[in-house]
Amino acid sequence: MEKVRLQKFMADAGVASRRKSEELIAKGHVKVNDKVVTEMGVKVDHHDKVEVDGMPLETEKKRYILMYKPRGVISAVKDDKGRKVVTDLLEEDVDERVYPIGRLDYDTSGLLLLTNDGEFANHLMHPRYHVDKTYVAKIEGILTLEEIKKLENGIRFKDYTSAHAKVTVKSKDKKKNSSIVKIVIHEGHNHQVKNMFDAVGHHVEKLAREKYGFLTLDGLVSGKYRDLTRQEVAQLK
Ligand code: URA
Repeated sequence: MEKVRLQKFMADAGVASRRKSEELIAKGHVKVNDKVVTEMGVKVDHHDKVEVDGMPLETEKKRYILMYKPRGVISAVKDDKGRKVVTDLLEEDVDERVYPIGRLDYDTSGLLLLTNDGEFANHLMHPRYHVDKTYVAKIEGILTLEEIKKLENGIRFKDYTSAHAKVTVKSKDKKKNSSIVKIVIHEGHNHQVKNMFDAVGHHVEKLAREKYGFLTLDGLVSGKYRDLTRQEVAQLK
């Protein structure tokens, strides 16, 4: 590993953003090889002992995983109720401590990224970084044109208004009173897709995330995963 600036090293290890890490350095919270460092120019790598408030940073190889999350699994690294979590699906080839970037609901399936790169995760989850997320929902009822417009133009919730979305009705079943709808959104608020459909009076019966930006689930079956390529990681940064 090439030496990198201390604040980047800290951000990569998930301590805080680069700017916050700079503050921690300036305020004397950070030691490199047992010496407090307060200036910004210092460069380090895995051979250096870096401590923040006396706690050593554990640094490991960066890992970027694209998983096809099944339904019935929690998007977390542990669950108080003992339910299966996404990291339980990882095999011996992943010994880095990766965690999910954002969340898919317990009953939602589809594309989930996991990483141990804190800066990468923060970057993708930042509201200003609008990565398109494509979902396919099975909803109750048939959408009217007006409802589609509402979904597309943004729905006002208590604490946010959804940004412009793109809605495509894939199929409608009048007999069963249900439809399959593709929706592309840009944010990742809790239960956002379900709440958007609920807001226009259509309960979501099933939900899957098919795409995350340009990434798809091609070649994966439910419960399996692959590493992102270097190029994919670079494209997301
Ligand atoms: N929106 C939801 O409602 N649920 C998800 O899991 C993801 C997006």
